[in-house]
Amino acid sequence: MFSMIKTVKGRTWKNWARTCESTPEKILYPSSIEEVSSIVKEASKQKKTIRVVGAGHSFTSLVKTEDWLVSLDSLSGIGQIDEENSTVTVLGGTRLFQLGEALGRAGYAQENLGDINVQSLAGAISTGTHGTGLEFGNLSTQVMELSLVTASGEILTVSEKQNPHYFKACLVSLGGLGIIVKVKLKMIKSLVYEYRSEKVRYSKFEQQLDHYITANRHFEFYLFPFSDIVQIKTMNVTDRKPQSLSFHHFNNLFLENYLFFILSEICRLFPKSSRSISRLSSKAVGSTAIAANSHELFATPRLVKFREIEYCIPLHHFKSALQEIRKCIETKQHQVHFPIECRTVKADDIWLSPSYQRDSAYIAFHMYKGMPYEEYFQDMELIMKKYEGRPHWGKMHNQSKEELLSLYPKLPDFLTIRKELDPQGTFLNDYMKRLWI
Ligand SMILES: Cc1cc2nc3c(=O)[nH]c(=O)nc-3n(C[C@H](O)[C@H](O)[C@H](O)COP(=O)(O)OP(=O)(O)OC[C@H]3O[C@@H](n4cnc5c(N)ncnc54)[C@H](O)[C@@H]3O)c2cc1C
Repeated sequence: MFSMIKTVKGRTWKNWARTCESTPEKILYPSSIEEVSSIVKEASKQKKTIRVVGAGHSFTSLVKTEDWLVSLDSLSGIGQIDEENSTVTVLGGTRLFQLGEALGRAGYAQENLGDINVQSLAGAISTGTHGTGLEFGNLSTQVMELSLVTASGEILTVSEKQNPHYFKACLVSLGGLGIIVKVKLKMIKSLVYEYRSEKVRYSKFEQQLDHYITANRHFEFYLFPFSDIVQIKTMNVTDRKPQSLSFHHFNNLFLENYLFFILSEICRLFPKSSRSISRLSSKAVGSTAIAANSHELFATPRLVKFREIEYCIPLHHFKSALQEIRKCIETKQHQVHFPIECRTVKADDIWLSPSYQRDSAYIAFHMYKGMPYEEYFQDMELIMKKYEGRPHWGKMHNQSKEELLSLYPKLPDFLTIRKELDPQGTFLNDYMKRLWI
């Protein structure tokens, strides 16, 4: 069976954060859409379940399986660039950096990206991965059409025109409706951006928050626990010439990774030092202004391992939530030194998108690997819930099915389609059953 398909048995799979691991019966690496289809048909026949893995950068047990794990690492690459309609066709396993480089060579880019670019395109879409900028939706909003192999082995193409009743369900679906093998993606002409980083006092920052959000194409900021300093990062279109990024990348690697790793180890060994190390880190934020092409600027290497929760709240709650977060960390003296990452995303109409029908603020809380995170995350989750927070599907959270039903008005419709496309539950694992069944 599958004699032509690369298959690995007995290997333990782990995600990036090392928060999840399992030993699948086999890991399969199909290299064509037909092979994906034959794997799914065989799984249905043998009553095996399937989970698909991209780059394994989700923090939860979405990918965990003791049955069959399918990786699309051999089903990657960029197909047709349609200049007339500004779209590009991409295979599901393609990593975002591969896509960025290929588009860049042709003079194009994705309109927005998150802060790393190693994810697979299908994995990023499936969890509603987002960047920042109120003019832009998450990455799934860039999808014009996608093809997925459903539980029957059929190849289903969905878009606004083809099978439109499935489209808004398939765009964020956690691998629960089938295997995404091909995506047609909206692209824009490649632009040169000026990236700026600077620090400001919280009191001044708070007064200007609305202006920062609307005046910049891409804007994000980092709140440093126990500190009055906020780091703001902006990216706007410029007519400056792109510069060499060697120093910028070296700086990123050195400050945000190597030096931060050492500081994080100190916090792990001496948790009480978290407060002063957070303050020290905030003071070390420098002023930067650099011009470059988008795919080189969006992404930063993330070598320091952490755990993370991230919530999406309606934009109008942003300031109140920030004030409460700062107060809670001070009052409870949470031993955390990782800055809190804050971004904005435009409302969309994708059923399971956390920014469904609301302009949103995303707030992400990190804890260094090896340090206790439970109490900190619980307190932050309570605040996020108070502000109607929807969890990022790829990050840790403690939401029950009932809570998710109250947060996502279209979840019942999604679950009906799930049952219709996958009646045997071929694409379910225990974690997803807990969320959905
Ligand atoms: C260091 C770091 C930085 C991050 N930065 C950001 C950020 O800036 N913004 C943000 O929103 N998120 C961010 N994330 C989260 C990350 O983008 C998501 O978790 C994303 O899903 C990871 O993509 P992946 O390819 O690793 O998917 P995986 O984690 O491998 O899989 C995610 C989900 O997609 C499904 N899936 C994968 N491939 C397919 C397929 N072909 N067909 C159907 N389903 C599939 C899987 O079954 C699973 O349910 C970050 C994570 C890390 C670790």
